[in-house]
Amino acid sequence: MESNLPHWLQKQAELNPHEKAIETDDGSSLSFLELHERSKQYAAYFEENGIQRGDHVAVLSSNRLEMVLAIHALSYLGAVVVLLNTRLTPEELAFQIKDAEVSCLITEENFYSKGEAAIRNAGLAACPIVQYHLIQTNRSSPDAIRKEITLDEVFTIIYTSGTTGSPKGVQLTYGNHWASAISSALNLGLSQSDKWLICLPMFHVGGFSALIKNVVYGMPVFLMERFDEHMVNHAIKNSGVTIVSVVSIMLQRLIENLRDERLPAHFRCMLLGGGPAPKPLLENAKDKAIPVFQTYGMTETASQIVTLSPKDALRKLGSAGRALSTAWLVIDAPRGEIGEIKVKGPMVTKGYYKRDESTTEALSDGWLATGDLGYQDEEGFLYVVDRRKDLIISGGENIYPAEIESVLSGMKGIMEAGVTGIEDQRWGQVPAAFVVTQKESVLNETDVLRYCRDHLAGYKCPKEIHFVEKLPRNASNKLLRRELPAFRKDVGN
Ligand code: ATP
Ligand code: MG
Repeated sequence: MESNLPHWLQKQAELNPHEKAIETDDGSSLSFLELHERSKQYAAYFEENGIQRGDHVAVLSSNRLEMVLAIHALSYLGAVVVLLNTRLTPEELAFQIKDAEVSCLITEENFYSKGEAAIRNAGLAACPIVQYHLIQTNRSSPDAIRKEITLDEVFTIIYTSGTTGSPKGVQLTYGNHWASAISSALNLGLSQSDKWLICLPMFHVGGFSALIKNVVYGMPVFLMERFDEHMVNHAIKNSGVTIVSVVSIMLQRLIENLRDERLPAHFRCMLLGGGPAPKPLLENAKDKAIPVFQTYGMTETASQIVTLSPKDALRKLGSAGRALSTAWLVIDAPRGEIGEIKVKGPMVTKGYYKRDESTTEALSDGWLATGDLGYQDEEGFLYVVDRRKDLIISGGENIYPAEIESVLSGMKGIMEAGVTGIEDQRWGQVPAAFVVTQKESVLNETDVLRYCRDHLAGYKCPKEIHFVEKLPRNASNKLLRRELPAFRKDVGN
């Protein structure tokens, strides 16, 4: 049986027409009614330009208000939104545009030439490109407006970050996004005064999910075009922001920017996800009384599926928490031991677009094999250890790069660290570390090795330390460990 809901934005326009829906960092804002009206105007223009129900329409955009309008407009038409990462090259974009069978591209002026090159590269010269500043808003509504949301219908195709291989297009239905928003509120609670700040890119599920919460909860969001630590701290202090979702490098920069200042009491949640959270960073945040809640999730789960709840945050520092109340979590190993994390729930994707083999590999009976390793403590709290693909096996011992990175990042003078396995004749593989030091630091290899020997078992100590300018990261700021070995040449090894 098909389950339908009233369209979430139209509903908010009825329930909370004059409440603030979106604030942007240039000081402008829109109410829910204005958001609805303007999205309908966009939908009318898209309709005139041939976009229909079921079409795959790509959006290549930074976190701008127009991006929000375009996304809601596409949902009013029943089109599938394909979110593209703005930091990809035209060749990489072309792959996704072709892979997702895109029939139209919506973009901003800044990315027009990149988008056009991508379309050309994909061999789709006839694929129209719509630019925000050329959208005409003379019609107030499309003819074929969708007043209902069908939970089983695909709403978005979002590509995974491509950290472990080439990105895969994850299909997420309205129901997946809806369940994700509801489950998050059941965990974090929802207050009348909540305001969520979006500084993660909306082309990734972490940023996108806040946009859905905006219309499912009727909660205002503060939209930031790009992450800036000073602006985020300023918005928390002066614009009533109560929740922010970040990745660990952002949290680190926010803490550095705060210096000795504290965040105001109304700020209740720094949702930290997207990758491993180094212990020293969590302790630093705790010292500054920043309410950090670790969360674990992925594109395939429409963002968070396991989250530490406020009441356990300090007691279980380092844990990603327990499965949300609508979800299941199991570890493929006896309790307490490390194994693959498997999850199930209404926010989990039904599969990758046109990748039956990957879908069958990852999904079985609704259970998603995440490719991540972790363990649960006696109370069922999850500790994410690392990605299965990044595991280093050295002389028969398992070594987890994230553990070494976490130790290194706790050393004074080291800003960030990346670790990967390199081949070794005797041990099969050994860990090599790549560190970025603070400008004034005079650390040398011997200092770092000594620190490692003091904090890690011998077999886990990196056999090479490389000082590098910066670490290779993707657009979600995730460390690309597979690119680390290339840095060995740069330093003459
Ligand atoms: P790809 O699947 O293409 O390799 P990706 O897995 O990085 O890319 P995303 O879906 O953006 O793509 O990221 C999800 C992954 O991020 C998780 O599978 C996990 O490896 C990592 N991650 C998320 N939250 C945490 C966490 N709390 N601790 C450790 N790792 C995390
Ligand atoms: Mg993944």
